[in-house]
Amino acid sequence: MSSYLSARELAAGVRAGEWSAASSLEEYLGAIDESDGEVHAFNVVTADDARATAAAIDEAVAAGRDPGPLAGVPVALKDNLCTHGVATTCSSLILEGWVPPYDATVVSRLREAGALIVGKTNLDEFAMAGSTENSAFGPTRNPHDTTRVPGGSSGGSAASVAAGFTPLALGSDTGGSIRQPAALCGVVGMKPTYGRVSRYGLVAFASSLDQIGPFARTVDDAALLFEVIAGRDPLDATSIPEPVPAVSEQLDRGVEGLRVGVVGELMGEGIAPDVAARVHEASEALRAAGAKVEDASVPASIFGLSAYYLIAPAEASSNLARFDGVRYGLRVDAPNTNDMMVATRTQGFGAEVKRRIMLGTYALSAGYYDAYYGKAQKVRTLIIRDFAAAYDRFDVLLSPTSPTTAFPLGDKTADPMAMYMNDVCTIPSNLSGDPAISVPYGTGDDGLPVGVQVLAPALGEEVMFRVAATLEASVS
Ligand code: GLN
Repeated sequence: MSSYLSARELAAGVRAGEWSAASSLEEYLGAIDESDGEVHAFNVVTADDARATAAAIDEAVAAGRDPGPLAGVPVALKDNLCTHGVATTCSSLILEGWVPPYDATVVSRLREAGALIVGKTNLDEFAMAGSTENSAFGPTRNPHDTTRVPGGSSGGSAASVAAGFTPLALGSDTGGSIRQPAALCGVVGMKPTYGRVSRYGLVAFASSLDQIGPFARTVDDAALLFEVIAGRDPLDATSIPEPVPAVSEQLDRGVEGLRVGVVGELMGEGIAPDVAARVHEASEALRAAGAKVEDASVPASIFGLSAYYLIAPAEASSNLARFDGVRYGLRVDAPNTNDMMVATRTQGFGAEVKRRIMLGTYALSAGYYDAYYGKAQKVRTLIIRDFAAAYDRFDVLLSPTSPTTAFPLGDKTADPMAMYMNDVCTIPSNLSGDPAISVPYGTGDDGLPVGVQVLAPALGEEVMFRVAATLEASVS
């Protein structure tokens, strides 16, 4: 059955005419039909559009043309990525009725590569939080145990891949929103180097941190999707010109002689012992494969969470100012413009988004700017320096992705601090702009998936993917 094939195998079969994109698509749509009522990975399934694309791909193959590296592969998109003619909600009421007039660059690249866009996935409203419970449309559930959260904010995308609804999905990662749900759902999730992937058409949360990246079942499929979406885009001034490395070709090169550091600061307090144990096993596996493994230190990383919760809300308060009842989506009528904006934003935004806007506005206000936002930026510089020093000694670093396995729905909704702590291991590399990947590495004491994080210096995706592939092959 094609749902057991990797994306690469599926595309290869479609390109060779061994099976049709149309018939394999039906298997995936069938799985969504059967189980998404319970999982709720999708805000919308664009079955007709996907069927039309699949038919066009099969025709192209029949006519002797090559539809591209993702020919006939179903892909799910986080619902903060703009899709021409298909509502983009950010799982918020404030965007009600808004239909983008253009595709995000990553979406155009997927289409050019022959992928089938099967729908838009649920997220924490505007990608803020880490459990996908903060969605205006209700929570997504973890396919491994539907009483548990899938993580977030890209929980719908992670769940889609984990449930076998799509071999691939895209998410966005501002403080861990690809890697943390990947870990909790037992799939691969990767945040590229800042600037590696165009963010044109991604609804901005915190612009100095946001990156789009892949979810997949295997490291090789994540590499394939990364190669399709990465690379300079004139429509995003922050996208970088460096050529995209052919990471998939290097995956089987192994780790012989590589220097691997286990980040001490991310292995201590707050990390569940069963999660830490898996990271130790992963480091031993790399040692057995010929890497030189030692303890590493990134001292300022312990301040990452504090700096992030000033910088990200500050940027969010500015980015979300555009949702004013005039330009997009919802408008709640009132006697004058000011009251209309207040009523629209009061009704349209959920509690967590309001909390971030207030925190950010406060941190940026006259008199507090230097003490909060300015100070957080200095801490960010320290984190960048400490990572740079660590990468003088090590090729890659290792840590847990998330401090725990998937927690029960409702466990952390009343306690924002507990929710924020989820991202203690993922946030540092958003602040530094470096790439990082989460690889499934066995299970915790509760039988739920654990993710190990491989961190690499900026533009170090090639070595990062190699280490990830070695880990994947070693997992027992
Ligand atoms: N959980 C983090 C937050 O709430 C990260 C979110 C993200 O990466 N989009 O900000």
